Amino acid sequence: MKYYILFGPPGAGKGTQAKFIAEKYNLLHISTGDLLRKEMAAGTPLGLQAKQLIDGGNLVPDEVVVGMIKNTFALNKDVSGFLLDGFPRTIAQAQKLDEMLAENGEKVDKVLSLAIKDETIFERIAKRAQIEGRKDDADPKTIQNRIDTYHEKTEPLIEYYKEKGNYCEIPGEQTIEEVFSDICRTIG
Ligand code: ADP
Repeated sequence: MKYYILFGPPGAGKGTQAKFIAEKYNLLHISTGDLLRKEMAAGTPLGLQAKQLIDGGNLVPDEVVVGMIKNTFALNKDVSGFLLDGFPRTIAQAQKLDEMLAENGEKVDKVLSLAIKDETIFERIAKRAQIEGRKDDADPKTIQNRIDTYHEKTEPLIEYYKEKGNYCEIPGEQTIEEVFSDICRTIG
């Protein structure tokens, strides 16, 4: 089983690239953001709990997303690999993932990291707000909080994976096609 992580700040282009990568490499795309938005749309207790946090630009608790990932792995034993998008987002989540995989003698194959500047994040999210209508994209204060949360809680993962030797950085400010071709070269 292959495990790839698509990593990067909000607005880096993870969702766009994930579709192309999953199709080309026959991977199951798991987006924790999409899974949470489905729960919110369905009005489940989990969705209601997540809504407040997400709309304010905060992370949902580690146990919640770890539980969602565990379920998805358990329900998809017959796929050739997974593309994780938006997970892990904290060191605790990364450690849990490593533990989960180690139980079966597995590990994260590569971390595909899309790097973009904070100014670009702002521009892209503002544009997306007009297209997708996500509440967490609409308010500049929420966007800033997501960027701050990224720097504080998620960016430390870069060192975590660099130490493991599976971290690969791709410049995210190129065209969609250029980013994809860099990713393909990196996956090899
Ligand atoms: P983006 O990458 O644009 O921030 P996502 O769709 O990946 O968007 O995530 C939207 C929101 O869902 C996040 O701001 C966060 O509140 C929540 N979320 C998604 N994944 C996680 C995670 N792994 N841990 C905690 N919260 C998460």
